[in-house]
Amino acid sequence: MQNSGNTIRTRAAPSPTGFMHVGNARTFLFEYLFAKSVGGEFHLRIEDTDQKRYVEGAEQVVYDTFNFLGLKWDGEVIKQSSRLSIYKDYARKLVEQGNAYFCFCSEERLSQLREEQEKNHQPTGYDRKCRDLHADEVLEKIKNGESHVIRLKMPETGKIVLSDMIRGEIEFDLSLVDDQVLLKADGFPTYHLAVVVDDHMTGITHVIRGDEWVSSIPKHIYLYQCFGWEPTKYGHLSVILGSDKKKKLSKRDGAVSVEAFRTQGYLVEAIINYIALLGWNPGTEREFFTLAELEKEFNIKRVQKSPAMFDMEKFNHFNAHYIHEMNDVELLKKIKPFSEIDFSKYANEFLQKVISVVKTRMVTLKDFDVYSHFFFTWQPPKKDMIKFAKSDWQNTILGFEKAIEKLENLDDWNTIEKLNEVLLSVVTENGLKNGDVFWPIRASLSAESASPSPTELLWVLGKELSLNRLKKCLVIIK
Ligand code: GLU
Repeated sequence: MQNSGNTIRTRAAPSPTGFMHVGNARTFLFEYLFAKSVGGEFHLRIEDTDQKRYVEGAEQVVYDTFNFLGLKWDGEVIKQSSRLSIYKDYARKLVEQGNAYFCFCSEERLSQLREEQEKNHQPTGYDRKCRDLHADEVLEKIKNGESHVIRLKMPETGKIVLSDMIRGEIEFDLSLVDDQVLLKADGFPTYHLAVVVDDHMTGITHVIRGDEWVSSIPKHIYLYQCFGWEPTKYGHLSVILGSDKKKKLSKRDGAVSVEAFRTQGYLVEAIINYIALLGWNPGTEREFFTLAELEKEFNIKRVQKSPAMFDMEKFNHFNAHYIHEMNDVELLKKIKPFSEIDFSKYANEFLQKVISVVKTRMVTLKDFDVYSHFFFTWQPPKKDMIKFAKSDWQNTILGFEKAIEKLENLDDWNTIEKLNEVLLSVVTENGLKNGDVFWPIRASLSAESASPSPTELLWVLGKELSLNRLKKCLVIIK
């Protein structure tokens, strides 16, 4: 997958963990949008070299989540675990060049060293014990089968300056950088070696990633220098803070993975739109964007370096917006997996009416049942619920009987306006108040203290079902 031309090429490089944190999803989205906004390519690489973090089925979750988000990648997926010999060769090349060295220090020694450094309030890091081992000694140890890693021999002096696409110029003092392990004892590369080799070999021109990688910049740039390759351009995204505005968004803040949001009934349109605004803004007041619109509007120059905040309320507002915007047939399809109601038992026309009155109240797809169950199953309410608090039984019964009478004679149930007119006429013709008529009808039809308006209920339920329920309630209150 060489990059022969001047094509701008980004990549998403997820480590398969079995879920996609919102922060990672935002990084992938920005890599995707950056590529699309400049007519470039977006690639996918599975970074699965950490055997300790292996999770069964996690790779599939990556593909499923990318597909769900609609982030289509170009070309073949690169899988690091199938490229081990490549990394090994490059690590050895660095040793041959004198840029890296074999290190035989045991895990025990390293953790002891760390403990001591911590105790003495020193910066933690490798003490470079093996850095200057004599070549013969190294050969001898390898021959004896001593477990070893390969470490990068960082220069002891000098600086590296990087012009970050988001953070501007960042300077690093090389004397402060640890001798990073590049190849582990199990023959697997660390992230640092694999990322540089793969980004170079697959012609990646721009890397956008989380700011937890800022401290790795000097190691990566130095690796590029050792290999004689031109480094990619970098943009490091700020953290996403949780609702306390202090700590990084995490499990503490509830479900924060794309998969969790999906199973809680959030729409992909809302997820994409909301996370796009976590650190990017269009420079206008506009807040709603589809993925296709973002592809055109996105501009890396408008990505902020200050932290973004994940505001659940705002996210809900976006989800509600997309639920309200969606056409009823489409929405019904999306609701199906979240509903306990067997839609096949009901006429489409009825279901669409239900949707049209319920959807403005829904925040997630799961809310459908909460706000609509009384259209499908109904038990008469308790007598007291039928009377409006400020009304009395005499007016309630009068309004109820008159309304039933009028509704029985009404043939045009096609519009909510018409039904509203009928109920209003019962109020005026009998010298009643709205609460004497509207409340009892609404409470009777839904058997809930809060529900859509009585006219919406009448319209959805239709003449037969509505009158059936009302008459049963009349028996209760009389
Ligand atoms: N595998 C790394 C991660 O999941 C990728 C970092 C990068 O984009 O270079 O954070």
